[in-house]
Amino acid sequence: IVVLTGGTGGAKFAQGLMRVLPARELTFVVNTGDDFRWWGLPVSPDLDSITYALADLLSRDRGWGVEGDTFHCLEAMGRLGAPTWFRVGDRDLATHLMRGQLLAAGKTLSAATVEITRRWEIEARILPMTDARVETRILTPAGDLSFEEYFVRERYQVPVEGVRLKGIEMAQPAPGVLEAIETADVVLLAPSNPITSIGPILAVPGIRKALAETPAPIGAVSPIVGSRAVSGPAGTLMQLQGLPVSPEGVARFYADFLDVLIADERDASALRGVSVSGVRFHCTQTLMKSLDDKVQLARAAVESTQQAQVVG
Ligand code: GDP
Repeated sequence: IVVLTGGTGGAKFAQGLMRVLPARELTFVVNTGDDFRWWGLPVSPDLDSITYALADLLSRDRGWGVEGDTFHCLEAMGRLGAPTWFRVGDRDLATHLMRGQLLAAGKTLSAATVEITRRWEIEARILPMTDARVETRILTPAGDLSFEEYFVRERYQVPVEGVRLKGIEMAQPAPGVLEAIETADVVLLAPSNPITSIGPILAVPGIRKALAETPAPIGAVSPIVGSRAVSGPAGTLMQLQGLPVSPEGVARFYADFLDVLIADERDASALRGVSVSGVRFHCTQTLMKSLDDKVQLARAAVESTQQAQVVG
């Protein structure tokens, strides 16, 4: 099972999947457009969220970072005059230090990710979408921002004029990504931001084509319920791309390769008259509050996507 994913929505979905399927059968292809340097260290927010989710380290109340982490280093950095808007916990910091060491020793991001996941005894496979440097730039009237500057520092409250994926033309899929998609039994898209989490993965040359050509059925969980994102700026960014902010809009964005959109049961009646070419809608409860919710959504996503193949 191959899962394309961003950070927070994807991490919750991963927590469900790892309880439904053996971890060694799961491959996560993760957005790296949010990657940036913080205090001189290479931070990969989405890789880290998925890693912490699969290692059962993810903070339950925050949904990012390490459960029970402390913030002594952050506090000291603040006193030394460093920026502190991106809240790196002390244990989380160890990940960025380790990644920095591995990259400085000449490893690629995917090789560094293998090392880190092995040391956390994670059996699932975590692949960055690419080893190349791709940066999601958010264009605003006051200049462009990195995704984390927009999302965390500005709390996505600034007007956005566009999204640019710097470096995408030269990027190649990381080793194993295309093969994973081509040989998968099922491909799933996590309920992640279509524009800034799944979008960059689809834009890596070769990945969208591999999705269109794989014999595996493909399902996506809608991050939009009703006419709003469950959280974050997905709605604003979809609107900017001319997409309706609805499960239908999500289905249209993925229509060239998607078989089934897993939408929320609250949208069942609204979706009855809707048709998006080649896409079936499967409605179920998609809000992941408890562990039970996550497990049920993971199971529904896998089963309804498998069924899409049987039905054809
Ligand atoms: P990011 O990299 O941190 O932006 O994280 P993702 O892109 O993986 O996740 C953000 C998206 O997940 C947002 O668009 C939310 O609407 C969506 N999301 C978050 N929680 C849930 C949930 O419980 N259910 C569903 N269906 N979507 C969710």
